[in-house]
Amino acid sequence: MGSAVKIHPQVDERIEPAVEGFAGGTLSCACGTNKVTVEIKGQCAHNHVCGCSRCWKPSGALFSQVAVVSRDNVAVTANADKLQVVDSKATIQRHACKECGVHMYGRIENTTHPFFGLDFIHTERSNAKGWAPPGFAAFVSSIIESGADPQNMGAVRARLVELGLPPYDCLSPVLMDAIATHTAKAADVLK
Ligand SMILES: [Zn+2]
Ligand SMILES: [Zn+2]
Repeated sequence: MGSAVKIHPQVDERIEPAVEGFAGGTLSCACGTNKVTVEIKGQCAHNHVCGCSRCWKPSGALFSQVAVVSRDNVAVTANADKLQVVDSKATIQRHACKECGVHMYGRIENTTHPFFGLDFIHTERSNAKGWAPPGFAAFVSSIIESGADPQNMGAVRARLVELGLPPYDCLSPVLMDAIATHTAKAADVLK
C-alpha cells in the first residue's frame, strides 16, 4: 500500500495467514485452455520470496514466491504432456508449461542432495486459501542479476523487513544450517 517498492503480488498488499489443518490445493498454469494442473496434498513448508533468476515469477514482480512440499504429495492431474524441464542440468528440475511458461513444480533428482524428497512449488498458482505464507526473503542480492537497480537495494531490503520477511543473500539460517548438517553427516564430521 504505502510503499513504492513492489516485491510480489502475494505480499505487497497483505500477507494472508495460514489456515490450521489446511488440506492443500490444485496448482494451475496460466493457459486459457488445457491447463496443466498439479494437485498438492497438505500444507507447504519454508514458503519464501526468492530473488534468484531461475525461479518462475509473475511478470513485473521483483521476487518469486516459492515453497516446498514432500514429492509424494505432488501429482500432475491434467495435461502432463505440456510439461518440459527448463534446464536438465540444474539441481532443481523445474517442470514448466511449454505454452505459458509457468513452472508447475521443481524436483531434485540427486538422492544425496540435502533437499532430496522435496518439490518446489508456487502456491499462488492455486486458488485455495490457507497456504502457509512466505516467512523470509532468499537470494535478495540476486535480483540485480535480473536487472534490478543496485542503488535501490536499501529500499528493497527495508521493505522486506517492514513486511516481516527478513532478507538473506542465501537461504534462511534454518535452511543453511540444515544443508551444513547434512554435509557434515555425509562427511562423518557429525553423527
Ligand atoms: Zn500453460
Ligand atoms: Zn529462486
